[in-house]
Amino acid sequence: MLAGLDPEQRAVATALHGPVCVLAGAGTGKTRALTHRIAYGVRTNRFQPTSVLAVTFTNRAAGEMRGRLRQLGAGGVQARTFHSAALRQLQYFWPKAVGGTLPRLVERKAQLVAEAGAACGIRLDRNQLRDATGEIEWAKVTQTVPGDYAESVAKSQRHAPRDPAELAQIYARYEQLKRDRGVIDFEDVLLLTIGILQDRRDIADHVRAQYQHFVVDEYQDVSPLQQRLLELWLGDRDSLCVVGDASQTIYSFTGATPEHLLNFRVRHPEATVVKLVRDYRSTPQIVHLANGLLSQARGRAADHRLELVSQRDTGPEPQHIEYGDEPSEAEGTARRIRDLIAAGVPAGEIAVLFRTNGQSGLYEQALTDAGVPYQLRGAERFFERREVREAQAALRGAARFGGNDAALDLADDLASQVRAVLSASGWGAQAPVGSGASRDRWESLAALARLAEDFGAAQPDASLADFVTELDERAASQHAPTVQGVTLASLHAAKGLEWDAVFLVGLTEGMMPITYARTDEQLEEERRLLYVGITRARFRLTLSWSLSRAPGGRAHRVPSRFLKDLRGASATRGASSFSVAGTGGISAGTGTPRRGPRKPIRCRSCGRSLTDAGEMKLMRCEGCPSDMDEGVYERLHTWRAAEAERLGQ
Ligand code: ATP
Ligand code: MG
Repeated sequence: MLAGLDPEQRAVATALHGPVCVLAGAGTGKTRALTHRIAYGVRTNRFQPTSVLAVTFTNRAAGEMRGRLRQLGAGGVQARTFHSAALRQLQYFWPKAVGGTLPRLVERKAQLVAEAGAACGIRLDRNQLRDATGEIEWAKVTQTVPGDYAESVAKSQRHAPRDPAELAQIYARYEQLKRDRGVIDFEDVLLLTIGILQDRRDIADHVRAQYQHFVVDEYQDVSPLQQRLLELWLGDRDSLCVVGDASQTIYSFTGATPEHLLNFRVRHPEATVVKLVRDYRSTPQIVHLANGLLSQARGRAADHRLELVSQRDTGPEPQHIEYGDEPSEAEGTARRIRDLIAAGVPAGEIAVLFRTNGQSGLYEQALTDAGVPYQLRGAERFFERREVREAQAALRGAARFGGNDAALDLADDLASQVRAVLSASGWGAQAPVGSGASRDRWESLAALARLAEDFGAAQPDASLADFVTELDERAASQHAPTVQGVTLASLHAAKGLEWDAVFLVGLTEGMMPITYARTDEQLEEERRLLYVGITRARFRLTLSWSLSRAPGGRAHRVPSRFLKDLRGASATRGASSFSVAGTGGISAGTGTPRRGPRKPIRCRSCGRSLTDAGEMKLMRCEGCPSDMDEGVYERLHTWRAAEAERLGQ
């Protein structure tokens, strides 16, 4: 069990007493060391499996950890997210603490926020809705009630997306609507659990008697609410092991903070602190880029940065690709992915990562056109599909009143029960012929049936009610069942995961960093987000951007400022469609209309007629291999950035 660990990882795995803190960069084996520590404790009879609670950041990470623990002979350990652990405890203790059954989790939170806005006479468009929902989440995570919201925003120097007084009004109305409808949201799950553990000594004692050892992965992104819950779980004991990387703090916009990780030793002076620097995930080329990016980082997290050292053989150079417009970028990416799959890379080992969920549409289309299967993470609307919501309702009903249902009585372990309920709602085991709505509906329900199989296999004693809870948790965290295929995910949803080939797309100013990142702190968080993205790749990494939105559009975008911090990147030119409309064309890069006909400017190296303003200024193609060196790239980038600044973009 300790054989697959290096000396520092082994120190983590064998430190079974007292608080332990692991501070280390991406890919250094933090999650692995943590998992082996639990297994070591269980296999040496120091930990009872059921007395360990492992907290991870996503349901997928929790599932992966459970699987790994089983392989290491430590099945039966609870690996959950903060939310799912709290939800279980809340369901169990609710009848005793409050009476009746726990209110349902709100299914369409954004819709409820929209209704709250409308009730206050404020119409929210899609972006405003996202901002308002985010603000309400932030307020709740920082335990700010509507009446204190405006003051809290001012104190924290937080940039509120709209008038704080208006937001406070929407927030108050949203809370009221939830109460009226008898539903709770995800933040309420933590707040209510904390409230019960604080007020009811008997219940807190019960929970503490069950869980004696705690481990937390991705601790740099723990929110004040989660930290409070952890403290309540622990009581006055100290069997706690946390692992994290301050350079991967990417949820501070929701109120999370790396301070708990960075101050761990202050709170626990007796703690064992271990640092890991060997990167087992990525090739030296990829690690080199990541180190370069972080070398320019500022702020508290950056002070604790450790230079990563790759343990892998060299791999291909990471690629930088510039496209003329967004559809070309999506098509070019899909084409490259198709080629990789044809060359034998499994689709499940490839990911396309973007900054905002809104960017996924083009890539979904391009992959569909290229005949490449894909799965969406984070952005999926799976749980909003009508058939899925109906099936969830049917499963919930069956879990409650299943005793009266003959088909359910006959069905045995969990998957066949779920299939029985789905069949009763008209779902057949055979897929309907052809495509279209009925096929989509079938696929959704088949995914639920497969999920029940996986869930039942992972937890053989799970009941239908457990499966319903699992679906609720997945719905709330938008964690759709997986299908085999290329992963499309936002950078936030990619945390902790890894793929052989990663395509980081849309790397322009405005997207990376995102337009609304204005303060130095927000810009640093954008840098960390890119660091998370780069370090997801094991072997192949491609970074791309496009100069305009639509084909023939004004080429007004500039590459992300962070690209110049990446060491040793090689640049190539993707499928380009730079547009010069007629003789009075638009000069790409500046958006300045030119008057009158102009003499073509040619590349000094290959003679190609140039249309890109940046290239024209340098009088050479960006993609011209003989001339392409970092210095040229650097100058081109600097020039574009200066132009963009001049134009106020
Ligand atoms: P992140 O910060 O992204 O969450 P991490 O520090 O948790 O990364 P892991 O996911 O645990 O890193 O490990 C990264 C990869 O390196 C995994 O594929 C893991 O199996 C492998 N790995 C970790 N330690 C070792 C080791 N000692 N020997 C071989 N492979 C290892
Ligand atoms: Mg990890």
